[in-house]
Amino acid sequence: MVELDIEKLREIVGKDNVSDDIADLYVYSSDASVHQAMPSVVVRPGKTEEVQEILRYANQNKIPVIPRGAGSGMSGHTVPIDGGIVLDMKRMSRILEIRPEDLLCKVEPGVINDELNRALKPHGFFFAPMPSSGMICTIGGMIGTNASGNRAVKYGATRDVVLGLKVVLANGDLVTLGTNTKTDASGYQLARLIVGSEGTLGIVVEATLLISPLPKFKAMAIANFDKLEDAGNAISKVMSSGITPSMVELMDNVAITAVNKALGLGLPDVSAIIIFECNGMVKEAVDYEMNAITKICEEHNGSGIKMTDDPKEMARIYEGRKNLFPSLSRFGDGLVSTSLADDMAVPVSKIAVAVHEIHEIAKRNNVVMSAYGHCGSGLIHTKILMDPTKESQWEDAKKAVAETYEFVRSIGGTTSGEHGIALSKAPAMKIERKDSLEMMRTIKRALDPNNILNPHKMMDAPDDWTTATKLRYNVRGGQ
Ligand SMILES: Cc1cc2nc3c(=O)[nH]c(=O)nc-3n(C[C@H](O)[C@H](O)[C@H](O)COP(=O)(O)OP(=O)(O)OC[C@H]3O[C@@H](n4cnc5c(N)ncnc54)[C@H](O)[C@@H]3O)c2cc1C
Repeated sequence: MVELDIEKLREIVGKDNVSDDIADLYVYSSDASVHQAMPSVVVRPGKTEEVQEILRYANQNKIPVIPRGAGSGMSGHTVPIDGGIVLDMKRMSRILEIRPEDLLCKVEPGVINDELNRALKPHGFFFAPMPSSGMICTIGGMIGTNASGNRAVKYGATRDVVLGLKVVLANGDLVTLGTNTKTDASGYQLARLIVGSEGTLGIVVEATLLISPLPKFKAMAIANFDKLEDAGNAISKVMSSGITPSMVELMDNVAITAVNKALGLGLPDVSAIIIFECNGMVKEAVDYEMNAITKICEEHNGSGIKMTDDPKEMARIYEGRKNLFPSLSRFGDGLVSTSLADDMAVPVSKIAVAVHEIHEIAKRNNVVMSAYGHCGSGLIHTKILMDPTKESQWEDAKKAVAETYEFVRSIGGTTSGEHGIALSKAPAMKIERKDSLEMMRTIKRALDPNNILNPHKMMDAPDDWTTATKLRYNVRGGQ
């Protein structure tokens, strides 16, 4: 544990905003990943000047600082591997400006995604990257991980909607990066460098974000496929046909079985289901695109194709996909859904072969793996369903993870398309990005010479994710 001056921190943020109570430390010791490590203290700043003062103090004393939003990261992003200060940014949660005429808003980092969208709705606008965790995740965390969601296929990820940032650097200096306009050619794209930096380069204290007009019309189609190959080819054909769907979600047979078991939805027992959505301002344009999609599905042996623009029916179609994540934990007795190898991205034409191989890898390694996700942008989510209390299952999972990433690399894909790297995915990223690791380390050293900001993550994380920290589960030896 790091020795630190709690009184000094209390002076900066007030005594109610500092806690070294064991129950609080425990809560902040993990996120939505498999990892766990105790912080020394939790500090909740309320304004930029406080963040600056905390960082000046931490930098002088070489104390780790881990910025944290909602702690919904899936790879150990906010797990304080070296102890230190967990900087909970949720108190900084003001929406500072909404300027529909400029297609932008300015917010503090602790604003929750859904709250921002609730505030934008009366203006007829929305903030497009909508992670499934939108009801809890913060803008700061979304910037930290370059989060995206099911509509990234049309609107892009967080990196595509961050126009500018105010960032407190490791030494406490405040810098303004980027601008208020969609185009910007004024030097290095430093705001973009912060996006996806997982709290390792600076603390975001304000963000200027691009917002989009709410579409007036929306329609959805669902299609079943007996062969994965047909489903993959249908997605690839839709995406290369000039149509821009606002959502393309695939669910494999494991996912279908899980939602049927958990929710009794009675979805057909097929190899894959795809849900498509199109949206826009002109009804005829939306209908035209939907008709083109259903035709492509038919041409690729899709069956049971249904198209609707009825909001209730659309909600019913999407229910299984929406509730998939919690449903997976009910797939089998004693099997827990773990976020490992959970969000790779592959070229769109390789989706079917990737999903097929994921199933083969699972079989070879004695675990169950589902494959689903925002496949229109090549994103495949997997969850490894395993008994996390058995040591042998961690060995199985480790092999399955390594084989999955090896395969993803072999077809030109990437380790993480959505959730980021942190601890669990660092070994795979280090192999995939070996040419640029030193460049990342050089940038990190230049901005954070004392290595206080979320240290030992991504390019500097340990090589074995199972021993990088304590695992959150009570693991027993043997079978
Ligand atoms: C059920 C569930 C569903 C999910 N669905 C999606 C999804 O659809 N799409 C998706 O992309 N992700 C998804 N996620 C993952 C996660 O929710 C996202 O990565 C989210 O953006 C994290 O936000 P957070 O506020 O929880 O950040 P945290 O987990 O607290 O932090 C994430 C990273 O950002 C850094 N950070 C936080 N605040 C700041 C700041 N102010 N300045 C600098 N760095 C900061 C942290 O240090 C950390 O490295 C899901 C997670 C869960 C549990």
